[in-house]
Amino acid sequence: MRIAIISDIHANLTAFRAVLDHAKDGGAIDGLWCLGDIVGYGPHPNECIAELRSYDNKTVAGNHDLAACGKMGTEDFNEAAASAAQWTEGQLSDDARSYLENLPMTVEEGDFTFVHGSLRWPEWEYLLSGEQAQAQFELQKTPISLVGHTHLPAVCLEDEAGPPTLRPAADGERLELGDGRWIINPGGAGQPRDGDPRASYAVYDSGDASITFSRVDYDISATQKSMEEAGLSQWLIERLAYGR
Ligand code: ZN
Repeated sequence: MRIAIISDIHANLTAFRAVLDHAKDGGAIDGLWCLGDIVGYGPHPNECIAELRSYDNKTVAGNHDLAACGKMGTEDFNEAAASAAQWTEGQLSDDARSYLENLPMTVEEGDFTFVHGSLRWPEWEYLLSGEQAQAQFELQKTPISLVGHTHLPAVCLEDEAGPPTLRPAADGERLELGDGRWIINPGGAGQPRDGDPRASYAVYDSGDASITFSRVDYDISATQKSMEEAGLSQWLIERLAYGR
């Protein structure tokens, strides 16, 4: 079984489709695990939700999904994110809105737990440090947790000898999961923030119990053009080109 692990699509349909094509180039995929923020920032919220739902998927809610369907206020969002959330809310079909409203905050599936931010603060904590990873491991009931939200591909293996280290994951890096306890972030599909503008995602292969990270080129200018047509913020449009 091969599963594409995708987070932070952010209504960037061009990036999402490039990731799916790349995943399928490596062999058939049997489903998607999505770690939230399907919408927000980008120009194609309904289309991204429809694309996701066309696959066998397990999906958790992100803060932008909650904001777009009115379940979370935008007081703590920056101005561009808040105005993008309002724009998204106005675009959503009734069906898409009710899909977002009903997403769970966490999912456990076999050896995996999915959550957008962290187990102690699912919709909001940016899991960026070894200290935060330790707190996550303490709450984690399965060997592996998959997180998103930071838009940074990252990996942490629990170390019984000392505090864990959370480190960036490289393009093409393959993890053999073995008996370890892990926290894994596939990075941002629709708005990478590690300085590499290529879409980021990972594939879980149950055959050899591995996870492989990948970066994928996509037509950034096509997404930017759609964002301009939608009247989305210039800052959000520009940052796609820098991966920040
Ligand atoms: Zn996000």
